[in-house]
Amino acid sequence: MNTFKDFDLQEVLLDKLDKIEYIEPTPIQAQTIPIALKGKDVFGSAQTGTGKTAAFILPLLSHIISQPNSAALILVPTRELAMQVMDFAKTLLSNRNRNKIALLIGGQPIFKQLSQLRFNPNLIVGTPGRINDHISRRTLKLNNVKYFVLDEADRMLDMGFTEELEKITNLLPKDRQTLMFSATIPKDIISIANKYLQDPERIAIGEAQTPALKVKQETVFVKKDNKFKILTEEITKREGSIIIFAKTKIGTEKLANKLAGKFKVEYIHGDLRQGRRDRVIKSFKNSKYRILVATDVAARGLDIPHIEHVINYDIPQCPEDYIHRIGRTGRAGKEGSALGIISCEDKPKWKAINYFIETGKKEPIKKNSSKRRKSFGSDRRRSSFSDRKRSSFRGNENRGGDNRRSENRGGGDNRRKN
Ligand code: AMP
Repeated sequence: MNTFKDFDLQEVLLDKLDKIEYIEPTPIQAQTIPIALKGKDVFGSAQTGTGKTAAFILPLLSHIISQPNSAALILVPTRELAMQVMDFAKTLLSNRNRNKIALLIGGQPIFKQLSQLRFNPNLIVGTPGRINDHISRRTLKLNNVKYFVLDEADRMLDMGFTEELEKITNLLPKDRQTLMFSATIPKDIISIANKYLQDPERIAIGEAQTPALKVKQETVFVKKDNKFKILTEEITKREGSIIIFAKTKIGTEKLANKLAGKFKVEYIHGDLRQGRRDRVIKSFKNSKYRILVATDVAARGLDIPHIEHVINYDIPQCPEDYIHRIGRTGRAGKEGSALGIISCEDKPKWKAINYFIETGKKEPIKKNSSKRRKSFGSDRRRSSFSDRKRSSFRGNENRGGDNRRSENRGGGDNRRKN
């Protein structure tokens, strides 16, 4: 398939694609669209930023345009992602069809959603919490949902939505088409796929765990007390937009406030009111400021094409989040860079991330590992692992700004081997 015109999509969609200059399908689109148009279930994995959204939205809109009495439900883990998916759907829909959509996400007034639901929408995009909320209020019925998309399924499970997901899928008609996408394929995702999909076509573009090919990854090893100083130096060296990831909501705010003395910066985390979150994202997209400090709420799905750099000020708790964070840059084939600022305390997490990137699997949990983890970083460091890592770490430690770094191109040495 060389152009979108080769697909059996509704004319109105082809016209809109022309307008937004989507000419050639990306690999995930080229593989998913024809299968989904045939009505088959799809179990897809692809790197972030590969064009996954259009891969599921185009066949789904084509179906509901041709069968106006059927409905489609797209379930995503975060509000931002839901808004992004809905925005893209709106660009593709004609004014007439735009009246029949509902965005069901937390943090937004319920009355607006209720009025959207009164029109019997045939495109519903939402997050599991608010969708269940509407189900309990009996304001949402799912009996005419013929097309179901489960996007970022791994994230959904990580965020603890397993039960909500189960409740929602139990209410969907059995006779439906389901497209499920997950960036990583751990065991629980395979069991979810077995449960919710019927004889799916498996589509894997690249290797799900491999960071986007064009993302140059660097690490800088620092003493904990030096982290902020090194961060400001690294920011100064860079040009273009930067997203900095911090661990906690409060940490995110504090870091942004500290940086605000020197740089134009904003922050985003899950406790901000939805209106504020939207404004922050919009201004970042419009380059009103250069630096966004974020918790993992912003790590997945957000599509801001111009982010040149990702800086992991705090290393994420789980390796999948690392992949998603760095996937915020290097989107749609552009180049990007990712820097990890790694202190002594981060070493076990950093080791786990590298193990995941190299093997595609999570590190096996060692006996007593929880005890070890607790004592790491305190005076009671006893485990042989901690001691070994500590000494090798010292060799790399940052002294007075002479940062030792290691570099690799995602997809090079770090590529998954199996
Ligand atoms: P996604 O992985 O869906 O978030 O898409 C990543 C980026 O690629 C977004 O900025 C899309 O607008 C862009 N994109 C996706 N598919 C195409 C295409 N076929 N042609 C041009 N840009 C695309």
